Amino acid sequence: MSHVLVIDQNKHPLDPIHPGRARYLLTADHAAVYRRYPFTLIMKETQPEGTPHPLRVKIDPGSQTTGVALVNDATGEVVWAAELRHRGEQVRVNLADRHTSRRSRRRRHTRYRQPRFLNRTRPTGWLPPSLVSRVQNVVTWVERLRRYAPIGAISYEFVRFDTQLIEQPDITGIEYQQGTLAGWEAREYLLLKWGYRCAYCHKEATRWEVDHILPRSRGGSNRVKNLALACHACNQEKGDRTAEEYGHPEVQAEAGKPLKDAAAVNSTRWGLYNRLKQMGLPIETGTGGRTKWNRTTRQIPKTHWLDATCVGASTPEQVRGKKIRPLLIRATGQQCRQMQNMDKYGFPVGSPKAATRVGGFRTGDMVRAIVPAGRATSGTHVGRVLVRASKQFDIRTATDRIPNVHARYCHPLHRQDGYAYAHGKGAALPPHA
Ligand SMILES: [Zn+2]
Repeated sequence: MSHVLVIDQNKHPLDPIHPGRARYLLTADHAAVYRRYPFTLIMKETQPEGTPHPLRVKIDPGSQTTGVALVNDATGEVVWAAELRHRGEQVRVNLADRHTSRRSRRRRHTRYRQPRFLNRTRPTGWLPPSLVSRVQNVVTWVERLRRYAPIGAISYEFVRFDTQLIEQPDITGIEYQQGTLAGWEAREYLLLKWGYRCAYCHKEATRWEVDHILPRSRGGSNRVKNLALACHACNQEKGDRTAEEYGHPEVQAEAGKPLKDAAAVNSTRWGLYNRLKQMGLPIETGTGGRTKWNRTTRQIPKTHWLDATCVGASTPEQVRGKKIRPLLIRATGQQCRQMQNMDKYGFPVGSPKAATRVGGFRTGDMVRAIVPAGRATSGTHVGRVLVRASKQFDIRTATDRIPNVHARYCHPLHRQDGYAYAHGKGAALPPHA
C-alpha cells in the first residue's frame, strides 16, 4: 500500500508510515489530518530526535501523463506513487479561443491600427504555454512532495537513448528484444530514428523486429548504422538479402545518417531539467532505454508510475511494494481569467465575473456539507463546491449535483489547488525471495 506522509509539529517531513500505523495515530489522537491530497498527517506531540531516511523522487515525464514514484533506495521499497495527467491540449484550445475572439473584436472596431512588425522576441529557453504548463505541473508536485516527505535526490528520465552506449559495436541479444542495456538503448534509438514505422513498407506495426541491413549471415555488424526497424512480414520477406537487393537502397542511405542529439532530448525535457536542477537536490538522469531495460529485467508491468520507479541507474535490484495504488492527479487549472462570458458571436452573456471567494469558499473547494433535517437538501454531502455571491452553493458529489446548499452548512475538506484526484488500480509487483 502507498504509505502515509507525516510531518512533525514544526512541519518538517518525517518517515512515511504504514496506513495501519496512521489509523492508530489518528484514533489515539496522536496526529491529525493535515492534507488530503497527498494524504498527510501532522503529529500532535514532539517526536524523539532522529533524521528521517532520505527518499528518492523518480520522474518519468510524458506528453500526456507523467509518472511519479517515491522510492527508498536502501530497501528498494516504493513508498508512494502517482500519475499526473497534464492539460497541455486544454491550454492550447483556450489560447486559440482567446485568439479568435480578440481577432473578431479587432475586426469589428475599425479604427486604424499601425501594423506591428518584427517587434516581438522570445527569450532563450522559451517554451509554448501548453508545454510550460506540463513543466510547471511536475515542478509543483516535486515541491509539494518535498514539503511532506524527506526527499534526498531526484531521478529524471531525461533522454531517449544513450548516444555513447549505442556507438559500441557489440550489441548482442537485440534480435530477441531483450538482452543488454546497450540493446535497449539501440532499440530506443531505432524507434526514434525510423519514427515507429517499418523502414520498408512504412506501416506502423505493434511488434518490431530489428533488421540487419547487411545480414548477419553475410558479415553484417550490430552497429546501429547497419540496423533498421522492420515489421515481421518485411523482415521475413527480405530474408538473406541486403536492403539494396531487396529494392530499398534508400534505407541503406538513411541508416548511415546520424540522428541529431536534439532528437533525443526535446525542449520540454530540457526545460523541466533546468527547473529541477534549481531545487538544489542531486539529480540523476536516466535514458528511456534504461527505464525499459530495468523494467523488463525485473519483470515489472508497464504503467506510468512503475516506469518512473525504473528510471535511472540507481533503481534497486529488487523493487518492493505491496498493493500500491497510485494517486491519479489530473491538472484542471486554477481558475478562468476571463471576466465576462461570451456567446459564439463574441457578445457578452450574463454579468461580469463576481467575487471568487464567498463565505471563505472558492469554486472547486472540496467540502462536507451537513444540512439539518427539514430542508430540501437535508443530509450529508461530500463534493466540490460551486460558489455564488448569494451564498447558495451547488455541490457536485461523486454521483449528482445538490443545488442551493447554504455556505453555513459547508466545512472545508481540501482547498481547490488546480488538480482533481482519484485513486488508481494497483499493479502487482513480481514476488521476490
Ligand atoms: Zn514492413
